[in-house]
Amino acid sequence: MGENSVNESTLLRRRLVEKLIKDGMIKTEGVKHALLKVPREEFLPKMELKRCYEDTPLPLPGTGQTISAPHMCAIMLEELQLFPGLSVLEVGTGSGYNSALLAEMVTSSGKGPTGRVTTIERIGELVDSASLNLKRLGYGDKVNVVLGDGTMGYPSGVQEEIYDRIVVTAGAPTVPRQLQIQAKDDAILLIPVGDIFSQKLTKVFKKSGGKLETKHLCDCVFVPLLGSDGHPNS
Ligand code: SAM
Repeated sequence: MGENSVNESTLLRRRLVEKLIKDGMIKTEGVKHALLKVPREEFLPKMELKRCYEDTPLPLPGTGQTISAPHMCAIMLEELQLFPGLSVLEVGTGSGYNSALLAEMVTSSGKGPTGRVTTIERIGELVDSASLNLKRLGYGDKVNVVLGDGTMGYPSGVQEEIYDRIVVTAGAPTVPRQLQIQAKDDAILLIPVGDIFSQKLTKVFKKSGGKLETKHLCDCVFVPLLGSDGHPNS
């Protein structure tokens, strides 16, 4: 990448972040830092640079899937109340862009606590491309990309695999049972819930003792969450 394009990319990112702050989508320094840091074009090969910084979902070629709009990433990052040291499960890796944003917020390069991000994707081709994107940008040891049906949670079957935060980036009919189980006490679970055409972004607080409290945040439209505890795959 030449110096000019690096500068243009940085400039476009700054403009986008300024707009998201003005629109009230970015509220905290951590989210601002993450969106300024991660180059969205690195997750959108062959897309014109300027388009990569439009505040809109964009297609991931050949997969029928999309990378979410930056304002939706910002809303989700803010609502997850992230800080270094947390263990995060993301369902729906897609390009890996949002996984990199999550990693910026929960891992730290200094002496502080280092969290980790596990992300599950059902399409093998996206697992491969997201893994390559994340490695190339230095997130290889911060994000674990896993192939599987994320409605069943982390697929290892390891009992201890539970998370401080769970975020689903596809639209679900209901909150999958296994994700409720894999959330720690005091965890936040963020998930779009509705039919395949529109959903409500839903924030679930798991209280100690396993009680769930649910809050609807805003209307949204995501590609469907498919799988055993998602929408049927046809
Ligand atoms: N966050 C992604 C990004 O930054 O590029 C965009 C995610 S895209 C809107 C939703 C993704 O969820 C798609 O890649 C889709 O294949 C994936 N998906 C749908 N159902 C899934 C499931 N049961 N398990 C894992 N991934 C799933």
